[in-house]
Amino acid sequence: MTLERVTVLGATGSIGTSTLDVLGRHPERYRVHALTAHRSRESLLAQCRRHRPAVAVLDAEEDAAWLRGQLAEAGLATEARAGREALVEVAEAREVNTVMSAIVGAAGLLPTLAAVEAGKRVLLANKEALVMSGALFMDAVTRHGATLLPIDSEHNAIYQCLPVDHRGGLVRHGVTQLLLTASGGPFRGWSRDDLVRVTPDQACAHPNWSMGRKISVDSATLMNKGLELIEACWLFDARPDQVQVVVHPQSVIHSMAAYSDGSVIAQLGNPDMRTPIAYGLAWPERIDAGVEALDLFRIARLDFEPADEVAFPCLRLAREAMAAGGTAPAVLNAANEVAVEAFLAGRLGFTAIGELVGRVCDECPVMPADDLETILEVDALARRAARVRLARQ
Ligand code: NAD
Ligand code: MG
Repeated sequence: MTLERVTVLGATGSIGTSTLDVLGRHPERYRVHALTAHRSRESLLAQCRRHRPAVAVLDAEEDAAWLRGQLAEAGLATEARAGREALVEVAEAREVNTVMSAIVGAAGLLPTLAAVEAGKRVLLANKEALVMSGALFMDAVTRHGATLLPIDSEHNAIYQCLPVDHRGGLVRHGVTQLLLTASGGPFRGWSRDDLVRVTPDQACAHPNWSMGRKISVDSATLMNKGLELIEACWLFDARPDQVQVVVHPQSVIHSMAAYSDGSVIAQLGNPDMRTPIAYGLAWPERIDAGVEALDLFRIARLDFEPADEVAFPCLRLAREAMAAGGTAPAVLNAANEVAVEAFLAGRLGFTAIGELVGRVCDECPVMPADDLETILEVDALARRAARVRLARQ
């Protein structure tokens, strides 16, 4: 078997470390080409010792210089680099077959697009990149012959429940609806009044999944489900009304596809991201992911309920942004990134996240999102609008 060379963008994060765990179980199959991180240089150094990549990338030159010194001392041949250009280069490098896109937020867009444009196998965890640039992104996948595999557990589940070649729209394949499951987050069943005083630590304590802080807050506001609804529309060529959100607190069914003959196909598993990661790495084969077998007797029951869009308006805002089209999802995403950062820094209340995002969405005009410059400009504009509103609070 020829060795697959893998770049992991966002290697020190929750998805990044799970990816390295799976890769480490199959040394005969995978080699790490590059690992990247924003500022966590100590974690990146530890990963370099273990996985011996050819390249390691950090954001600041100062951190890369520190890493260079440490690598030399450890006698490792890894080259330490800094900055966005280096990120793009390790995503599109000729020797790389597979790129794990696991940077959080808009910062992941350019390197992920570079991997797509280089025709790589792209494992997409970074949903914000697709939300911002949907049409452009999917068009680039087709034009450059990239293989796009969704890593977000819900989309990975749907991918597994659809026919192998599901291009050309859902209806053509007899699919009537995608059922996107949601845990409901840590505040399921809470009223809007209860939510006002929620703290960052409460919001980050997810009942079923252990994740980075930004996506944990998104899960708590249900913006994560909103971003995932947009993600599903792009990945599976679906309209927003073909995607139904189903709250399923046990997080055992990761999503489903309903067919015209009445069949509903679901993918089940323990809530462990190593399952979708291993699926994406080995597709169309299957490899060991280190995940415990599902014990249905221990789970005993599966519950379902509708989402509460009154207490959690972010889901509605996302659906509206997708229906509005063009740059609307990019505005939604940018405003949300600013709002979540402010919430995590203790500068914005929990319920104010949705309010701020709603106001910025109302304020920014919707334009066609045909080219990258427009998308990046709109992203910057929406961030500015959100910051101006924050400063006024
Ligand atoms: P995380 O915060 O744990 O890790 C983020 C990684 O990106 C880190 O390696 C960090 O150093 C790097 N990074 C952060 N900002 C950066 C920047 N400006 N430039 C370059 N690198 C930067 O996040 P996570 O939970 O692993 O999530 C990563 C992505 O995967 C997100 O888009 C998230 O929505 C998606 N995702 C995560 C999960 C999960 O279970 N954690 C599930 C589904 C989807
Ligand atoms: Mg998900």
